[in-house]
Amino acid sequence: MVRWSRRWRSGETIKDDIKVILDEAAQNTSSPKGTTGQLIGDYYGSCLDVAKVNAAGMKPLAPWLEEIDAAKDTAALLRVMARLHDIGVTVPFALTGAQDPHEPTMILADIGANGLSLPERDYYLGSEARFKEARAKFLEHVTKMSKLAGADDAGAALAAKTVLDMETHLAEASLDPASLRDPKATDHKASFAQLEAMAPHIRWSDYFEHMHLAKDVALNVQEPRYLAEVDRQVQTLPLADWKMYLQWQLLNAAASYLSSNFVDEDFAFNGKYLNGATELKPRWKLCAESTDNLFGEALGKEYVERHFPPEAKAKMKELIQNILAAMHDDILSLPWMGEETKKRALAKLATFNVKVGYPDKWKDYSNVAVTRDSYWDGVLAGRRFEVEDNLSTIGKPVDRGRWGMTPPTSNAYYTPLLNEIVFPAGILVPPAFDVHASDAMNYGAIGVVIGHEISHGFDDEGAQYDELGALKNWWTDDDLKKFKDRGACVAKQFDGYFIEPGLHHNGKLVLGESIGDLGGAKLAFKAFQKSMEGKPRPANVDGFTPEQQFFIAWGQWRGDAVRIETQRVMVQSDPHPIGKFRVNGPLSNLPEFQKAFSCKAGSAMVRAEDRCEVW
Ligand SMILES: [Zn+2]
Repeated sequence: MVRWSRRWRSGETIKDDIKVILDEAAQNTSSPKGTTGQLIGDYYGSCLDVAKVNAAGMKPLAPWLEEIDAAKDTAALLRVMARLHDIGVTVPFALTGAQDPHEPTMILADIGANGLSLPERDYYLGSEARFKEARAKFLEHVTKMSKLAGADDAGAALAAKTVLDMETHLAEASLDPASLRDPKATDHKASFAQLEAMAPHIRWSDYFEHMHLAKDVALNVQEPRYLAEVDRQVQTLPLADWKMYLQWQLLNAAASYLSSNFVDEDFAFNGKYLNGATELKPRWKLCAESTDNLFGEALGKEYVERHFPPEAKAKMKELIQNILAAMHDDILSLPWMGEETKKRALAKLATFNVKVGYPDKWKDYSNVAVTRDSYWDGVLAGRRFEVEDNLSTIGKPVDRGRWGMTPPTSNAYYTPLLNEIVFPAGILVPPAFDVHASDAMNYGAIGVVIGHEISHGFDDEGAQYDELGALKNWWTDDDLKKFKDRGACVAKQFDGYFIEPGLHHNGKLVLGESIGDLGGAKLAFKAFQKSMEGKPRPANVDGFTPEQQFFIAWGQWRGDAVRIETQRVMVQSDPHPIGKFRVNGPLSNLPEFQKAFSCKAGSAMVRAEDRCEVW
């Protein structure tokens, strides 16, 4: 494992619960075709059958590798690329359905950069020793994988060098993770003619025909400079280079579904070297995660029937309403914000949509054919379903019933274009949430998460979207400046945090999450205080006051131990700060925390003149 925390542990408990469901489904070999039980039982069963998976070796990939090899010209190569997109190997760019930021009731075709194997661009371009080492290790890894796939020594070494060269140029043309957080940086609506002009050698007519897309569909190109680089490579590189690139990307995407030698090498690089994991997870857990990943709403339906009772949903809705009310009061009382902006902020808050537990309407998998015979065929069936399910939304009005996470997921999210906060059943378990726990515990753990997701609607990114989900400024100039200054305080605070000497958080990268945590803790605490009004004061527990219990709950749920290798990747590419700073960062800004623990001025957990407050 690469981390331990009480939160992580609760996610593992869910996998234990899922295992029971999947084992039962897999043991029942007589479920009628097309039923949820048959689908997840056969998929999970085929994954567990390691003997069969190993006996197949890399045979499942052979027809694909041959097809790539057989491409005689650019047109044929691009046709293979489009076929790889059908099975979710969406390189070097990905076309998906996404909400139109200027007309958020509609879904457009969004073209994003997706051609790198390493976590982000600095790994290709950085001159620090750790990046140089990562590149050397990557070359070794691609070489090993290519040899496992049948290449000779020289061929494998050449493939590795070619892939790294191509990806390095793609990295140069890519935005870094902090820039990618700015919605304006990826907002480039284009017509089909403009797309063709941007990248004239990609044969978009053929591609759109393959994807069953009309040419007049609304389009967005996230990174035009990146797409131009792809085009340049299509135009100038030998066909042989592209074949090596596509074969590698296919191998990379498929490795975890193939025989043990591929699984082990994939783990040695991505798990062990990049993230510091010491051993591969047990097979059942990999298979459970794979099932959740591809058929999450089938598995999730079974999961919530057993583990998410209606009273949990009702209690969660009550907590959310109380914290939304706290945000309402908070906006009204902000000393720095003018009346005009306040009105707009309240309008945005009023349109917040809330989803709890699981979707009202489940995805229909009844036409997805999965059998016990071949794990890879099940993977392909699931991936094709996912891709088609997504592409089928393009050009249509947005379906607000869809979920971006599966019900067993131990996480939550906010979507600015839908202006909605979503809490899957998987996060609504102890120690985050328990219908029988005290309010101090619930508000201190899941309450802060709720406040965090609400605050995302008003962080440096979310605040750029209006109450209808459109990317449109609703701030007065004066208030926007004050808001940015307040954000800058938080960015500076996190710039100061480091995981090892010289390796600091990037305040701009983690700003949204950190504004979320700071606002979340404040709002949840306010709502908690309000919930105690007019009632007898709750008892102390182990000598801790209710207020102290609230903050302890956040620390216990959010704090974690993460391997240093994973921390290094996170600091580089993850908009979430390390757990320790997600606890100490926001709480040291809160006067309520100082008061609860009677901290003296000058204590490490008390920021003074440099105290930050956004919401
Ligand atoms: Zn967040």
